Amino acid sequence: MSLPEFKLLRPRTIEEAVTCLGSHAGNIRILAGGTDLIPSMRQKLFEPEYVLDLRGIADLCGIKPDPRGGVEIGALTTLRAIERSDFLRQHYPVLSEAAATVASPVLRNMGTIGGNICLDTRCLWYNQSLTWRKGCGFCIKKDGDLCHVAPGGTKCWAAFSGDTPPALLCLNAEIEIASAAGMHRVPLRDFYTGLGDAYRRLQPNELVTRVFLPASSADYCGVYRKLRVRGSIDYPLAGVAVVMKRSNGHVLDAQVGITAVNPAPLLVKGAGDLLAGKIVNEDLAEAIGDLAARTAKPLTTSALTPEYRREMIRVFTKRAVLAATGN
Ligand SMILES: Cc1cc2nc3c(=O)[nH]c(=O)nc-3n(C[C@H](O)[C@H](O)[C@H](O)COP(=O)(O)OP(=O)(O)OC[C@H]3O[C@@H](n4cnc5c(N)ncnc54)[C@H](O)[C@@H]3O)c2cc1C
Ligand code: SF4
Repeated sequence: MSLPEFKLLRPRTIEEAVTCLGSHAGNIRILAGGTDLIPSMRQKLFEPEYVLDLRGIADLCGIKPDPRGGVEIGALTTLRAIERSDFLRQHYPVLSEAAATVASPVLRNMGTIGGNICLDTRCLWYNQSLTWRKGCGFCIKKDGDLCHVAPGGTKCWAAFSGDTPPALLCLNAEIEIASAAGMHRVPLRDFYTGLGDAYRRLQPNELVTRVFLPASSADYCGVYRKLRVRGSIDYPLAGVAVVMKRSNGHVLDAQVGITAVNPAPLLVKGAGDLLAGKIVNEDLAEAIGDLAARTAKPLTTSALTPEYRREMIRVFTKRAVLAATGN
């Protein structure tokens, strides 16, 4: 599958990048590591006239601990750098663990945290070649007006399938968004829409520049568990992140996040309240697993059945909660 023709723009600063986005809004795509964008362009899912290559913007790279607490991570920081950062491994282990499960070492050397947050949603009927999609009459997400997964509906249910966002949600991450009007910060939990097609709140003239993890989320025990068909190189078909802080065996604070089973990564509502003040045992971990399974709404967007993926959310959540307490 050949790449469609495009003009490559290579800004050196964030200001140059947002100027390019403003000038070509609607007809330009942002390229970071390119590990998802390039295969999608080959499949003719995107045929922009311009591609904005961020890789010349040094300002977007690096992990910078804030002396007052917390850390700032440039959007162009590779997943490999996140996986290997001693600082993140020590203070935000759930993020390092989630990053380490993405694809394969080669893809993690190229793939970035910004690209992982902004990753397009995925579906069996969408991530296919143009010929394949044409043969099926296309679908709502691209070029058509029906959904093969939920026929009769008007909504796209493609699943958000990035590994780091559930971990980032558990850590109360914020992201910085730049446009010609300046920078603003938003909690990551407000970035996703819950729709499979227009899945993120990012205007065509905006880009994600940084991720911030607060001091208050540092030093939590963290665990990430992921379901995939092959042991490596596969997107998650269900994923669970758990963070927890305890004192004398009692849970002080906890969060549970899930991915790959809804059009957005989500925090499991009520999980933190149910865990707070308790000593974790099998029954409590199972109850959290039940809550997570009720939050998951997988459909037939992947090769594994929705029933199996929901069940694995239940099982992985229980295991992750127990693992976060060292059991
Ligand atoms: C075989 C294979 C297996 C994979 N397995 C996994 C997996 O297990 N888990 C997983 O999470 N991912 C997986 N991926 C997807 C991908 O490698 C990662 O999600 C990676 O983090 C994407 O980052 P990138 O920098 O390469 O993004 P790109 O491909 O450059 O961009 C991805 C999307 O984000 C947009 N974008 C990128 N950066 C920004 C920014 N700063 N601001 C605004 N928009 C931006 C792009 O326009 C594009 O729409 C896999 C990919 C392949 C090819
Ligand atoms: S969920 Fe439906 S509309 Fe969305 S990509 Fe899949 S088939 Fe297309």
